[in-house]
Amino acid sequence: MKIGFVGAGVGTLHAALLLTKRYPEVEITIFEKESRAGGRLASVDFETGGRIDQGPTIVLMPGKLQEQLREAGLEGVELERIDPLYDLHFDDGTIVTKQADVVDQTIAIERQFGEGRGFQEFMQQKAKDYDVSVSKFLERTYSRKRDLLHPDMLAPLVKMHAMETAHDHLKRFFKSKHLRMAYSFPTFYIGGNPYTTPSIYGLIPYREQEEGVWYVKGGYFSLAERMYEALVERGVTFKFNQPVDRVLIQQGQTKGLVAAGQEYVYDTVVLNGEFPLMEYLVEGKQPKKYVPSGGTLLLYFKIDGKVDLPVHRFLMPSDLKPLMTSIFKKNELPENPAVYLFNPSKIDDALTASGTSVVYALVPSPRGFDQANYEAHGFIDQILDKIEQHLPGFQSQVTEMKIRTPQDAQDFGLYEGGSFGIAPTIRQSAALKTQAKPYADIERLYAVGASVHPCGGVPIVMMGATLLVNRMEQEMRWKNGYSDERISSM
Ligand SMILES: Cc1cc2nc3c(=O)[nH]c(=O)nc-3n(C[C@H](O)[C@H](O)[C@H](O)COP(=O)(O)OP(=O)(O)OC[C@H]3O[C@@H](n4cnc5c(N)ncnc54)[C@H](O)[C@@H]3O)c2cc1C
Repeated sequence: MKIGFVGAGVGTLHAALLLTKRYPEVEITIFEKESRAGGRLASVDFETGGRIDQGPTIVLMPGKLQEQLREAGLEGVELERIDPLYDLHFDDGTIVTKQADVVDQTIAIERQFGEGRGFQEFMQQKAKDYDVSVSKFLERTYSRKRDLLHPDMLAPLVKMHAMETAHDHLKRFFKSKHLRMAYSFPTFYIGGNPYTTPSIYGLIPYREQEEGVWYVKGGYFSLAERMYEALVERGVTFKFNQPVDRVLIQQGQTKGLVAAGQEYVYDTVVLNGEFPLMEYLVEGKQPKKYVPSGGTLLLYFKIDGKVDLPVHRFLMPSDLKPLMTSIFKKNELPENPAVYLFNPSKIDDALTASGTSVVYALVPSPRGFDQANYEAHGFIDQILDKIEQHLPGFQSQVTEMKIRTPQDAQDFGLYEGGSFGIAPTIRQSAALKTQAKPYADIERLYAVGASVHPCGGVPIVMMGATLLVNRMEQEMRWKNGYSDERISSM
């Protein structure tokens, strides 16, 4: 059995680990247009030494992440709990700190806002909604769109008020506008506007509070490096700098692919790039139109000495709605931007030489902007000034800065420059999203990644990889034991 993967993102890496663990005989080749594995899971390397995560920084669902790594036979990935999870500094001077311990957090919210009871109700209600969501939506695939119309699926959605927006849903629990923002803004972790994203995605801040925010020792990028090394050890072939141009389809079945002008024959092909961009490759298919996720401007700093920051801090405008309207609806730069600051050097000495630190700033931004656009508006200086106001002396500590714009993300292959795949909207969720088997009329062609069900975020993409491998097993009747003979006779 020969399988070709298009793209070496974490979806591919995890699927390949599961496949090689369960079926060591399987022959896997991974085609990647870049010169390394990991996709968005990458590092930024400073000229003067030191590395920092380029993309993901926040590890959610640590239990699922570890469970999946165990299933794939990857040992020794160490996670560290961050406590407090993070704090939010609003422009009006209000600070909301999220404690890792739920009881401590209840007490803190009661003291600061008199809303401890609302917080408890939020946690209790969301615990129930989460359990239902895992079985009904997260850990299953769909064969048809109409699966979603089944009363078994619709009833829980209605009960969870899933059609309310993530922000407005919180009015059921919190009076404070700061708490509503603090517990709805994490929909942006998957590129969603909390004022339009359905409240089912509001389970992210619940799960974050319940299980905590964790850190991969060595940086999130080191997870991709570990996965890559394990796959090489297991005999998987990587073909770097080999963009796939076409996926060959004959009589409703995948036959292989074309990369760098050469034809390769495979029994099965798996697409890991972004949809709809992958659809351009599939013979006979027309790309569909999707709503892209939000963009981000990223600034990476090499710092002389240390900075007085926790691992995660959010500088927030007093009202988040105008910011979200600017970037999602008007496609223009926000007057009052938000800045997420990531300071891994607080807990990880392995990233840079002693006496120096690495810090990154992520700024929600309209898509399509390049450096010239930002410079024309003085936007990068505005962000640096905002950080400086918060941390006097910061700019004098910066010895090197690197910039990544939404245009860079688009050039890398992220759909319309959105950082997080397609946006989490109702029409792009569950059965309405691309599935592990993307086309009912093409056999042995599969998909995995942030723009495929369930959704983006490293642990969830890994869950998607598990769904993919289970689906392959089911369809190819591998359940009773792998057999090339059995497959070729199908
Ligand atoms: C700025 C930022 C911050 C984030 N923060 C977090 C976070 O804190 N926590 C979290 O869990 N997640 C976070 N994410 C999301 C997370 O990074 C993604 O959900 C996840 O990494 C996506 O993995 P994927 O499998 O879809 O592959 P991708 O990372 O999309 O990789 C796909 C690969 O396919 C390759 N490819 C594409 N087309 C072709 C082709 N034609 N031929 C060959 N190769 C091709 C690409 O080069 C790429 O390497 C963040 C993302 C970004 C950008």
